[in-house]
Order: sequence, then C-alpha cells, then structure tokens
Amino acid sequence: MLSASNDMEDYAIGIDIGGTKTLIAIVNRSGCILGQSIIPTNPNDGSVLYLERLCVETERLITELRIDVNICRGLGVATAGVVDSAAATVKYAANLGWRQVKVGEVLGKYFGLQVKLGNDANLSAVAEYVWGTAKEVKDLIYVTVSTGIGAGIISGGRLVAGADDSAGEFGHISMNVNGPQCGCGNYGCLEMYASGTAIANSAKQLVINDPSITSKEVMEAAETGDDSALQVIRTAGFYLGNGITTLIHLFNPKLIVLGGGVMQTGDILLGEIESIIQERCIEGMKQRVAVRRTALGKEIGALGAAGQFFMSEKTEESS
Ligand SMILES: [Zn+2]
Repeated sequence: MLSASNDMEDYAIGIDIGGTKTLIAIVNRSGCILGQSIIPTNPNDGSVLYLERLCVETERLITELRIDVNICRGLGVATAGVVDSAAATVKYAANLGWRQVKVGEVLGKYFGLQVKLGNDANLSAVAEYVWGTAKEVKDLIYVTVSTGIGAGIISGGRLVAGADDSAGEFGHISMNVNGPQCGCGNYGCLEMYASGTAIANSAKQLVINDPSITSKEVMEAAETGDDSALQVIRTAGFYLGNGITTLIHLFNPKLIVLGGGVMQTGDILLGEIESIIQERCIEGMKQRVAVRRTALGKEIGALGAAGQFFMSEKTEESS
C-alpha cells in the first residue's frame, strides 16, 4: 500500500509500540502508507528516553516525506496493556515495564497535534473497520491469537472499549470453570487452551523429546500431517471456535477477522474454528457471519492507531 509522497490527501500518524520494536507509519485518508519506520523499543531504557527517541524519529520521517503538518489529522498510538484513552496515558504495560506513562502529553507537546491512544487489539479492529476488506460492515470483531489472545469489538460502527478501556479481554473468558488457574486469577481461561503459548506447551507434553518447540513449528508439523501436532491444533481450534461462538451470540457481528502470529500458518486451525462455529452457533446467526483471516499485514496496529482519526466519517458514510 505504498504511494508517492506528493499525495495531497490529509493523513494521520500511526504508531504501534510493541515489546521489542515500534512501527511508525504515515497513513493517508485512503489507508495508503506514505512512509514508515521501525525503531527498537528497548524497554530497559525507560519511558522518558524512549519517547524522546520516538519523537525524533517521527519528526525525521515527516521531514523526509516532505508532507505538510497542517493537513495532519493527529497522532494515534497503539500499545499493549491497560490504557486510559481519554487521558492518552498507558496505565500499565507489563511488556514495557511501564506504569502511568503520559504518552499523549509528551507527543502532543512535541508535535502540537491531538494524540489518541488505544489498546492494540481494539485498534486492530479499528483498522479492519476503516480500511479492511469489508467496506459496508459496521459490526465486526477482530480476534488476535499470538502469545496471548485478545479481541477488538466494533458494534454499529463504534468501538466497544468499555468504561475503563478494558473491553475485549477475550483470552480471559473461562472455558472450563474448574480448570487450572490462569495468571489473571480466573480459572480455565481460553488463553490457557488456544494461545501460541498453550499450543507450544501442549506439544511439549506430547512430543517429549523436543522441549524447545514453538507454536509455529507445531502448526507446520500439523500441515504436513503429524498426528500429535494435528491433535494439538484441533484442540486449540475447538476452544477458539467455542469462544468465538460466544462472541457471535453476544454481539451478532457480520464478520469475524482473525489475526496474530498463530493465525498466519496454514489452514487447519482456521478450518477447525469455522467448523465448530457451524456446529455450535445458533441457527440463523451462523449463516449471517463470515469468518476470515486479516488481509492487513504487520502494520495493522499502526493503521488502526491512525484510523481513529478517520473512523467517524466512515461511520457517517456507511449509515
Ligand atoms: Zn486468564
């Protein structure tokens, strides 16, 4: 989605802060990435030094692209962890070691732009809504399956963020109320059965002589027909399919979009999820919902961060 830098459409800056790297993207109204840059996050540096580096690199990118700051809608930031979107503050991010980091205040002061901050799963749903393949869809749920599991819910063209920006903790719904205890305190959470971490752990228990196996290797082994790997993937698909069925029953979406590292390998997991939904979902609802893999790449978080500035006009357009 690259295009020439002399594009005169207005644009927004989208920043996706990951545990190891940060992606900065300049995104125009059509969802084209005019330019992007990646910097290491280096959480050990602390937030002050990090935000300083982030400002300098973002400014460098804007200068390099020779784009007019006057037509910039604002600066969006996607991050893992607990956020306070109204204050554009990261309240707590375990992967960054951050507590009460006022990202909006720092970036806003530096660039003189409005800063909008959100949780990465929520903003990935925003990216799907504003720039994904389903243009007319106003009700969709983005589900990410990677080391953990999360969801972003768009209902009636609005992001369901909850009272404290904490909605969409899909990985922590209990699939087995008497199951083993999860790190969150609840028992038998979906994440314990179907995340990348869970897939790797189950494979380790089945394939005793490979303690270092990753979820990606399990997925690849399943694609080549390995019985143990197939069993692990089918179990993960069974739990994900059942969890997603609950999401469909609660929110009646038209579209479920699946993303995250675990969803990128092969079709077995996707097939398993689809067949469980068809088997378990309420008649009439299951015929109306489409399930597909995301078509947006690794830039999805940054696209969603920028997409916050184009969301309201998309909702008006399609209503
Ligand atoms: Zn949990």
